[in-house]
Amino acid sequence: MERLIYVAFDHLNENYGALKNSDPAKDVIVLVESARMTTGRKWHGQRLHFLISSARHFASHLEKLGYTVRYGKAATTVEGLQKVKKEFPELPMISAEPSSFRQFEALKEFGVEFVPNDFFLTPRPLFAQWADGQKSYLMENFYRLQRARLNVLMEKGKPVGGAWNFDKENRLPPPKNYTWPPYLEHKRDQIDKDVAAEIGYTPDSTWATTRKGALAQLKNFIDNHFAQFGPYEDAMALDNWALHHSLLSPYLNNGLLHAQEVIDAAEAAFKTGKIPIASAEGFIRQIIGWREYVNGMYWYLGPDYRENNQLGANRPLLPLFSDSNKTQMNCVKTIVSDIENRAWVHHIPRLMVLSNLALITGTNPQEFLDWMREVFIDASEWVMVPNVIGMGLHADGGAMMSKPYAAGGAYISRMGSFCKSCVYDPKLRVGETACPFTTLYWDFLDRHKESFVKNHRMSQQVNGLKRLSDLEELGVRAQQVLDGLDKGAI
Ligand SMILES: Cc1cc2nc3c(=O)[nH]c(=O)nc-3n(C[C@H](O)[C@H](O)[C@H](O)COP(=O)(O)OP(=O)(O)OC[C@H]3O[C@@H](n4cnc5c(N)ncnc54)[C@H](O)[C@@H]3O)c2cc1C
Ligand code: SF4
Repeated sequence: MERLIYVAFDHLNENYGALKNSDPAKDVIVLVESARMTTGRKWHGQRLHFLISSARHFASHLEKLGYTVRYGKAATTVEGLQKVKKEFPELPMISAEPSSFRQFEALKEFGVEFVPNDFFLTPRPLFAQWADGQKSYLMENFYRLQRARLNVLMEKGKPVGGAWNFDKENRLPPPKNYTWPPYLEHKRDQIDKDVAAEIGYTPDSTWATTRKGALAQLKNFIDNHFAQFGPYEDAMALDNWALHHSLLSPYLNNGLLHAQEVIDAAEAAFKTGKIPIASAEGFIRQIIGWREYVNGMYWYLGPDYRENNQLGANRPLLPLFSDSNKTQMNCVKTIVSDIENRAWVHHIPRLMVLSNLALITGTNPQEFLDWMREVFIDASEWVMVPNVIGMGLHADGGAMMSKPYAAGGAYISRMGSFCKSCVYDPKLRVGETACPFTTLYWDFLDRHKESFVKNHRMSQQVNGLKRLSDLEELGVRAQQVLDGLDKGAI
């Protein structure tokens, strides 16, 4: 044997990273199930099961390909690596560049040599080069360059369809009397069952734990959901948990799928003529735009970025985040209950309901970030930190996004179907039945008006405060709502 190859639980793909040029006759593959990862925090059972079972399936797959595999449990990753190093003291150890600052440092210190992380389409130095040249890090600017650089949905140097984005067509509320196409159910095998017994959590059939299952998920999306992805991508439906979202993020993030094959499948489907450009562009933007941008920003903004709290938000995590029974707000109750069941909701509930609530209640960003990391199936440090600190909670003072995504009940009422059956009224900002989002939205603007009024993208919203004749009453109601939320009684 000539080398030890460490494969992290988010690099489960033999065609990328350190496994790309590997050889079963020369390489020993090392995977470590660290206690820090499994029991270190209150991880959601779906998430824990998905990560462990996927890694064990992958280890078994590599063994079938003829590799020598060492899959071990240890207190920490480094302790697990030490054990294997003792068995093969003379062999050098390599791995793909890790996906978090913390693991990068730990492995570097242990002496692991890194090969470039090609699980993304944008090398880290290339992103840094782009970011260095920007006044503000507009995703749209980055995305247009990506389209041209990767030659996706381009024709003779111009965007296919004559425009870079079709956002206006992609903002429909949830449809009425609509038949949603099927979602896949993934069968459980013996590895899945063993992991379930070990962790004491039996997952439902939502998430696959093998590459075969991940590919089936991709096919199901392309065949049944892709054409309608665009129009309803921002909608939130009471009667449907996934709408036309792809449900691919867990597999993209743990390596079972690569962004390139998802883009190839999407482009091939678009070329058949059955996929409208608004849906094709809307989906491709998520993969080559948002996903790459967020990863680039994580590395560009540095390890201290996650500690930002520039709005001075120090409210402890609200009880309703940990228990959907602790609220009467229909939108939040439904969304938190969906997370309890499947460890997933799409980007609008994450941004415009959960993060929005944390933002306007002044919840501590790091407490909220930790909660999001624990409960989502697809949560990794590189993706949660910019999405929560920068986009969701505006805790970076606007370094990433030029304005906070704060909204009252009117937005949730327009884009979702929760309000009709809610005890609160999205149109009211004061009184017992006022929607907490509406009350707190105005209160949030009022609390931060001095700094927000200097932001030209916020000044119109802040100036709206001048039209309110009930600001005093609103302040009183806002305090009641905050007290009620702290007690889990709103
Ligand atoms: C506050 C907040 C937290 C988020 N946390 C995560 C997270 O921990 N892990 C995660 O993968 N995504 C995260 N996202 C992005 C997005 O919500 C999920 O990627 C998406 O909901 C996953 O479902 P899907 O695969 O059906 O996505 P689709 O809607 O089908 O989109 C396709 C793909 O685009 C990518 N994508 C879209 N938006 C983003 C984004 N903002 N950042 C990174 N990738 C994106 C994902 O890989 C996703 O699978 C977060 C967004 C917000 C606003
Ligand atoms: S009224 Fe307010 S709290 Fe109730 S569902 Fe609508 S937005 Fe949510």
